[in-house]
Amino acid sequence: MDSYCVFGHPIEHSKSPWIQARFAELTGQTLQYEKTWVPLDAFNATVHAFRAAGGKGCNVTLPFKTEAAALATECSPRVALAQACNTLKFDGEHIYGENTDGLGLVTDLVSNAGFSLQGRRILLIGAGGASAGVLGPLLAQKPQCIWVANRSVDKAIHLVARHASLAASEGVDCQAFGLTHEAILSQSFDLVINASSSSLQQAALPVPATVLQANGLACDLMYGPAAQGFLEWARAHGTEARDGLGMLVEQAAASFQLWRGVQPPTQQVLAELRALVSPSQ
Ligand code: NDP
Repeated sequence: MDSYCVFGHPIEHSKSPWIQARFAELTGQTLQYEKTWVPLDAFNATVHAFRAAGGKGCNVTLPFKTEAAALATECSPRVALAQACNTLKFDGEHIYGENTDGLGLVTDLVSNAGFSLQGRRILLIGAGGASAGVLGPLLAQKPQCIWVANRSVDKAIHLVARHASLAASEGVDCQAFGLTHEAILSQSFDLVINASSSSLQQAALPVPATVLQANGLACDLMYGPAAQGFLEWARAHGTEARDGLGMLVEQAAASFQLWRGVQPPTQQVLAELRALVSPSQ
C-alpha cells in the first residue's frame, strides 16, 4: 500500500492523518498516512529512511519546513520564494518540494469564503514560516496592496524584499512595517490575516481594532479554541471572521492532489472536521 507521513516536532496535535484518511476514503484511493515525531537533529535521516522504505511522499510541519526545502532536489517557485516546504513527493532519487500553505489559504478565502482578493487592501501580520508560505500566492491574486507587519521589523523587511520582483510583476504595493508603525495604526484593511503565533501563545492581539473594516474579513491562521479570542474580537467590531481550519484542509488537499492526481471533496471534509474540532464558525 502506498505510504505517506507527516513529520514534525511536536506532532501529536496533527489533524493531517485524519484529513488524508477521509480524502482517501472519499476518492477511493488506497493509501496509508501516519504521523511521526522527529528528533530536532534527525529530520534528513528520518525522511531518507522513510523514502528508502518505500514512502511515496510526506508533509512537513514545524520546525522542519526550511530543512525540507533544502532536502528537495527540485522545488516549486513557491518554495523558492518562501524558503519553506510543507510537502515532499518522492520518485526514486528525485524529491520534489512544494509549499501548499498559501495555495490552501487562497482557496479557502476565495472558494470557501467567497472573498475575492483582487484589488483588495490586505494586512498580513507576522513574518515567520506561515507568512512566508502565503505571501507569494496572495500576491498572485493581484490585491491592491499587501502590507506585512511584524513584531521584529527586520524579518518583515527580508520577507518583502524576497517577494519584490513578484509584487512588481503583479502590480501590488507590498511593504514591510513594524506592528506599531503609524502607517498600520492609521488605516483599515479589507482583509486582516493574523499569521503570527499570537493566538497559539494566547498572547495579546497584535494590532488595534482600527485596522478592521465593518465590511471586511479577518482571518487567523490558528484554529480551535486558541483562535476564539481573535474571532470574537473581529466580530465584536463588525468584521466577518474566519479561522485557519479551511486553510488546513485546503493545503492538505493540494498535497493529496500532488501525490495522487485526484482532487478530494474539501468542503465535505472541512464541515466534518469543524464539527470535531471547533464550533467557531
Ligand atoms: P513562526 O514561529 O515561524 O513565526 C511566528 C511569527 O509570529 C513571527 O513573525 C513572530 O514575530 C510572531 N509572533 C510571535 N508571537 C507574537 C506575539 N505575541 N505578538 C505578535 N507577533 C508574534 O510560526 P508560523 O509562522 O509557522 O505559524 C504562525 C501561526 O500560523 C501559528 O498559529 C500556526 O499554528 C499557524 N499556521 C496555520 C496553518 C494552517 O494550515 N491553518 C499552517 C501553518 C501555520 P517575531 O518575528 O517578532 O518573533
